Amino acid sequence: MAAAALSSAATATPARRHAALPSFAGLRRAPNAESLQLPSSTGRRGRGRAALTVRASNNPKLPAGRRLRVAVIGGGPAGGCAAETLAKGGVETVLIERKMDNCKPCGGAIPLCMVGEFDLPQDIIDRRVRKMKMISPSNVSVDIGRTLKPDEYIGMLRREVLDSYLRERAEKSGATLVNGLFLRMDKPAGPGERYRVHYNKYDGRAVGEPVTLEVDAVIGADGANSRVAKSIGAGNYEFAIAFQERMRIPAEKMEYYEERAEMYVGLDVSPDFYAWVFPKSDHVAVGTGTVTHKGDIKLLQEATRNRAGDKIDGAVTFRVEAHPIPEHPRPRRAVDQVALVGDAAGYVTKCSGEGIYFAAKSGRMCAEEIVRGSENGTRTITEADLRRYLAKFDKLYWPTYKVLDVLQKVFYRSNPAKEAFVEMCADEYVQKMTFDSYLYKRVVPGTPLEDLKLAVKTIGCLVRANALRNEMNKIGIYS
Ligand SMILES: Cc1cc2nc3c(=O)[nH]c(=O)nc-3n(C[C@H](O)[C@H](O)[C@H](O)COP(=O)(O)OP(=O)(O)OC[C@H]3O[C@@H](n4cnc5c(N)ncnc54)[C@H](O)[C@@H]3O)c2cc1C
Repeated sequence: MAAAALSSAATATPARRHAALPSFAGLRRAPNAESLQLPSSTGRRGRGRAALTVRASNNPKLPAGRRLRVAVIGGGPAGGCAAETLAKGGVETVLIERKMDNCKPCGGAIPLCMVGEFDLPQDIIDRRVRKMKMISPSNVSVDIGRTLKPDEYIGMLRREVLDSYLRERAEKSGATLVNGLFLRMDKPAGPGERYRVHYNKYDGRAVGEPVTLEVDAVIGADGANSRVAKSIGAGNYEFAIAFQERMRIPAEKMEYYEERAEMYVGLDVSPDFYAWVFPKSDHVAVGTGTVTHKGDIKLLQEATRNRAGDKIDGAVTFRVEAHPIPEHPRPRRAVDQVALVGDAAGYVTKCSGEGIYFAAKSGRMCAEEIVRGSENGTRTITEADLRRYLAKFDKLYWPTYKVLDVLQKVFYRSNPAKEAFVEMCADEYVQKMTFDSYLYKRVVPGTPLEDLKLAVKTIGCLVRANALRNEMNKIGIYS
């Protein structure tokens, strides 16, 4: 997350931001006016969710006694949050997850605003990180976090804990939870027909029983290798591969990570991303990622372990995991009555590699539009309803994605640029902007004078980095 808002000076006020930056997808005008009450996703800060007036839908009514039925494929943060919102909104919801104890390979870092917005109980958060150590290629380190208020932190949790909590909450809200492997789906055969979702149902059995379920709409929340995306021809995305080891380290070493996480940058640990040591309840997760050097991932991981050095001496690795991370949204995220959310849609930010919050948020926002469009499950929905979710999501987050993309290009391109990046992170103003943007998911308006100073400083750092690179290239280092 560290780079999350070196950007804020560049993006300034929301008004300016929206004028300058178009959204990923075309914005559509919502149909006419009024009535239902639904919790809002756009009230972004603090606990609870503001009520919002929803528009009445012109979509055809379903026959009396029949509710809109939606299949949510995948029970990660995107699927769990989508299913909860649908069920609360009166939609008949079936959540299909292939592995109920799935332990998603993930650093498990979440922004503070997610705890409030998604009412996460405190006891599912393993650690509250208040010191983020950024470590440069030459091992210069900077502690980020000096500007944090006493109650501010980055949450660290285990995904198996978060995901099952969100799924159970969806079930308590009325969703039907199925342990099944989604295989494929058939489009409606004609007017008045429904999608046919084919899956293998496990529910405690080792061999799945083939089942077909008829539904009015599908939310694809089945992660980076989404079969739902393939079924609708959503198109591909570039992806990074991330590798992570979970390690138990001696108790006295664990103390160092009590409320601290580490991010390493350098060509040795990743040419185009960062490596990390993130603390969990009784262990640390050590990992790295890359788009450009996927074949070297194990070497990069070895370099990460070496850099962490004696801080993880005596570590016993008990889990090794790897998974793709999408690099950008898929070309098509809504087709007919099928929408993609979370990693299936491609919502991980560049530079920081953050995707949990955006998965949960997109799942909820997509479900809200289905509840609205169907007037609490009493009408059919159309692609226009799903596109409203895309338009709202893009409007809220497109600037964040764009800025992090630019930052990755500028600061991760060489070792001198990475040195410059860490140097910048020592600046208190940068730290404050970074944390505010990351923790609360808003683009923070800066102060003009500090923005100017920051711009001058950034240019200074980059010029020095460039000069350094030229010198190093002359003597054959950093080539
Ligand atoms: C190593 C690594 C570290 C990361 N660290 C962080 C971090 O610290 N912070 C952060 O914010 N993000 C991080 N990310 C990104 C984050 O993990 C993802 O963005 C997030 O998990 C996306 O959530 P999701 O619900 O969209 O998909 P997923 O979490 O991938 O969930 C998809 C679910 O669908 C299920 N599923 C898949 N296929 C099927 C099928 N055919 N039938 C039924 N079920 C199916 C899976 O079992 C899974 O439960 C990291 C990613 C990696 C790989």
